[in-house]
Amino acid sequence: MSKQNISFYESVNLNFDKASKLVDLPKGLLEQIKVCNAVYQMKFPVKVGNQIKVIEAYRVQHSHHRLPTKGGIRYSTHVDQDEVMALAALMTYKCAIVDVPFGGAKGGVKINPTKFTERQLESITRRYTTELVRKNFIGPGIDVPAPDYGTGPREMAWILDTYNTFKNGEIDSAGCVTGKPVNQNGINGRNEATGRGVYYGIREVLSYEKDMREIGLDPGTAGKTMVIQGLGNVGSFAGLISQEEGDIKVIAVSEFEGAIYSEKGLNVQKLIKFRKNTGSIIGFPGSVSLPNRDVALELECDILVPAALENVITKENAPRIKAKIIAEAANGPIAYEAEDILLKKGIIIIPDMYVNAGGVTVSYFEWLKNLSHTRFGRIEKRFNQNTYTNLVGLIEKMTGKVISEREKLILTKGADEIDLVRSGLEETMVEAYNQIRLVAKRKKKVQDLRTAAFINALNKVGNDYLNLGVFP
Ligand code: GLU
Repeated sequence: MSKQNISFYESVNLNFDKASKLVDLPKGLLEQIKVCNAVYQMKFPVKVGNQIKVIEAYRVQHSHHRLPTKGGIRYSTHVDQDEVMALAALMTYKCAIVDVPFGGAKGGVKINPTKFTERQLESITRRYTTELVRKNFIGPGIDVPAPDYGTGPREMAWILDTYNTFKNGEIDSAGCVTGKPVNQNGINGRNEATGRGVYYGIREVLSYEKDMREIGLDPGTAGKTMVIQGLGNVGSFAGLISQEEGDIKVIAVSEFEGAIYSEKGLNVQKLIKFRKNTGSIIGFPGSVSLPNRDVALELECDILVPAALENVITKENAPRIKAKIIAEAANGPIAYEAEDILLKKGIIIIPDMYVNAGGVTVSYFEWLKNLSHTRFGRIEKRFNQNTYTNLVGLIEKMTGKVISEREKLILTKGADEIDLVRSGLEETMVEAYNQIRLVAKRKKKVQDLRTAAFINALNKVGNDYLNLGVFP
């Protein structure tokens, strides 16, 4: 991460202040929305080899205007109170923007997960969960964690199992955490959800001909060039899906070990395999290595996708950014002071609180699945299939033409869980962008999508508070 003067949490709050001047809500209410409602810092011991290590961890609940609160748990050495507070606040706004009925929260454990064995990570995760249970900071109607940077389905399964040992018999306990493995109360499509949502967001922005012409681009995704910073879960799926479904050309990727470039485009699927086998992206056939990983951000491209951590675009490197569009797949990759520099260059910034909201959207579907105790599609799939089969038969009879078996299979398919999850995610991302764009176009003083997204979020959260009757 580059050096910066303003902290991440201050950055989020400065963006909040910019937007709050443009909404018609009481001052005290805005102050209530801005602050973090509950901050829990914990320290607990874990045995590592024959040593005892003190682990520092957090859970922050930013807003209780809707319950449960929701947000991932991050395992990283950068974790501190400021970062977790910033991320929790972003979760509140993110949920509001995509109409996911939760308050915002976030957790963090200050460790480098690659330095621990699986067994040690399990003890840390179980102990962290125990601390949350003890303080009533977790539960399907209270606060629901999920994966974030450095965590995944494995950790979520440990969290559920630990929760269950305390809450034996609680009928909705599976909803105490999302992002679980599919065979352990998870949902199909959660793993790819953030990256897929990033693609849907980019596709939607690129679909507006007039907006694209203003920045010198043709509308549509096909043939556009993309640079990805960070090939973790979000960056990988965003790249893969952009390439496969949008025909976007991924020309450069950067990671810890360096950055690679190919004018013809990198095959993301093969690159992910290559990195898994060799431990590095460097040396990927058909690519050239760039002098260092930071220059990838400064390459000429249509879409830049920072998909790792916060504050990677600062006032130092912002003047050198040449992308036409930046899609914030990570949370907070653009420092507050860099924003104006980028906007003045005419760059469209698709803000984190919208474009990476696919993860929490599908988490919401998983939570609904857990509370309903049935998988999506189970009830209606066969019924729909039979109806479509009857219709196809009728068409054949009426026209006297024979529809091929292959076509019949496509036409009569009932929706599986994955189809419904993807469809729900697509609908969510399209609808949310249209709401944001409307504000950006209608409000004279709004020049950028982040401010527009904030305005939407503040109005929704503000109205919830007013409806709760807390504010007269
Ligand atoms: N950690 C993800 C985020 O920052 C997902 C949160 C969730 O699914 O609750 O949005």
